[in-house]
Amino acid sequence: MTVGEQTQVLVPKFREDCLVSKGIEVRDLLKVRKETILYVQPCASERGKLMADIELQQAKERFIDPTALCWLLETHRRRFAELKCSPNLGVAKLKWRGREISIFKNGKLKIQRALNREEILRLANSVSRLVWGAALCEVCGQPVLRCASGDCERCASAEKIIMRFGEIPNAELLRKGYLNLEKAQKLSGDEFEKSLRTAEFLALHFTMESPNKEDAVLGLILLGKAKKLGTRKS
Ligand SMILES: [Zn+2]
Ligand SMILES: [Zn+2]
Repeated sequence: MTVGEQTQVLVPKFREDCLVSKGIEVRDLLKVRKETILYVQPCASERGKLMADIELQQAKERFIDPTALCWLLETHRRRFAELKCSPNLGVAKLKWRGREISIFKNGKLKIQRALNREEILRLANSVSRLVWGAALCEVCGQPVLRCASGDCERCASAEKIIMRFGEIPNAELLRKGYLNLEKAQKLSGDEFEKSLRTAEFLALHFTMESPNKEDAVLGLILLGKAKKLGTRKS
């Protein structure tokens, strides 16, 4: 089987309490505590627009690893009109589709200039997928990306599951991502960088676009592998 025709991928089975399995889906959080997660109010600066505070968690001061967060956002920089991320402050600000989004290391999100509640929810869901890889897993205390890479022995078991691309929505993004990762392994210099960046971009894009979190995990796994390769070669 040549790489271009790859039809399936073997992935580790993760512990149920690992954040890779649990996810940080806003729609799941809403099922548990509907009122507390969203504070929607009118924007002070722009009439008719809404702003919202969203809490991906409430218990801890540090829920997101700031360095991993900046790395993730950098991966998708070209999709944002503006991006500022400070690992030291633990805050990221970005402009995306005309909306302003702030992400804080304690798991708070702020969305400004949204049109309506539906848009806020849609954005919050996308952003939660965007930052998922940087969230700290409760099992091992490391960013989810590290668990997803398969390197974390506490979270990933030796047992493997076969995932068939034919059964996954948007699998083309994933297939191309794996293709680029494979290519990068044989390259060096600028060519290596280019293939690796493409693999990372596609992996995160796939994770954000997946209709369900079980599939979205596959993008995180690819992203974790790509990050590992980038660290090894540089
Ligand atoms: Zn974990
Ligand atoms: Zn782990």
